[in-house]
Amino acid sequence: MGKIILTGDRPTGRLHVGHYVGSLRRRVELQNSGEYDKTFIMIADAQALTDNFENPEKVRLNIIEVALDYLSCGLDPTKSTLFIQSQIQELCELTFYYMDLVTVSRLQRNPTVKAEIKMRDFEASIPVGFFTYPISQAADITAFKATTVPVGDDQLPMIEQTREIVRKFNSIYDEVLVEPDALLPDNEASMRLPGIDGKQKMSKSLGNCIYLSDTEEDVRAKVMDMYTDPLHIKVSDPGHIEGNTVFTYLDAFSKPEHFAEYMPDYAGLEELKEHYKKGGLGDVKIKRFLNSVLQEELAPIRARRAEFEKDIPAVYDILKEGSDVARETAANTLAEVKKAMKIDYFEDEELIRMQSEKYGKN
Ligand code: ATP
Ligand code: MG
Repeated sequence: MGKIILTGDRPTGRLHVGHYVGSLRRRVELQNSGEYDKTFIMIADAQALTDNFENPEKVRLNIIEVALDYLSCGLDPTKSTLFIQSQIQELCELTFYYMDLVTVSRLQRNPTVKAEIKMRDFEASIPVGFFTYPISQAADITAFKATTVPVGDDQLPMIEQTREIVRKFNSIYDEVLVEPDALLPDNEASMRLPGIDGKQKMSKSLGNCIYLSDTEEDVRAKVMDMYTDPLHIKVSDPGHIEGNTVFTYLDAFSKPEHFAEYMPDYAGLEELKEHYKKGGLGDVKIKRFLNSVLQEELAPIRARRAEFEKDIPAVYDILKEGSDVARETAANTLAEVKKAMKIDYFEDEELIRMQSEKYGKN
């Protein structure tokens, strides 16, 4: 069996550097590694509508933003299938059948959904579609028989839910579905990058983001505004690394060559941290360094975006072609699912023959 990637993002805004370190950067590496037979990248508009159903225009307008962010990061439509979730109706059908395999209490235990319900003030009136989105996500993953799902750690409960559905389906019906593995970023800071406020995960819904498409000046201003260590008042004061957003970002983004280029007095990040902890290293200096690191990473992405922005109809074409390819794959899986669930009546000659015999005909 081949190795297949499926992952995606909700078109609720432009993509930010949390997406980049949590998943996007990895996807591009995997796409180019040659180790995967197929890579499917989905813009999850149907999922976005589960909590933005009153704002369809927002979802609709953000499709192109996410697509441009994908292309500018190096996702390549000749190597990866980029598609739009709502255009694959098979995913709804799969979701409907998987609903039989999941209990309400199991969904209520999902820690990510719990946190998201709280964040959206949905406690009193949770839309059923939102409550059940982990099931729809299982449909997205299994429709493509994905083996590998590169995600941030907020998605682990979704992958676990998918694995349970797969095991249950395969044991009741037939060995049709594939159990996926989550692929987390290899460094802790990237698993759940905090927002520039330092408090919660960087998230479009919280407005604490550095966007991949932010201008050079926007990025600089956001970095200079970043939350650091409230106890580090004078440069000479000892500072804290833990919970210090600038250091978390340096963990996620800095490479040894950045030190050689912008901070030659330090051998690497550990030495910089030691100095900060001891005292004598000011916030402005570390922020300037982080700004240089981020600008170096984001400048080529920004430049590629500007190129793709010149031909928007071509970007829609990429998504349309990708959606056609994705639909075919999902339709094959759905046919196998329906056969396993014994709802393939008209393809089942044995059933028709048996029922005819029962009534003494033929
Ligand atoms: P929304 O607020 O609409 O949920 P979001 O910013 O949380 O948006 P999603 O589209 O839900 O973004 O997430 C897409 C992918 O990016 C997922 O794999 C998720 O794990 C990852 N991701 C999102 N935010 C972060 C973050 N701050 N750090 C690491 N990974 C992240
Ligand atoms: Mg999210």
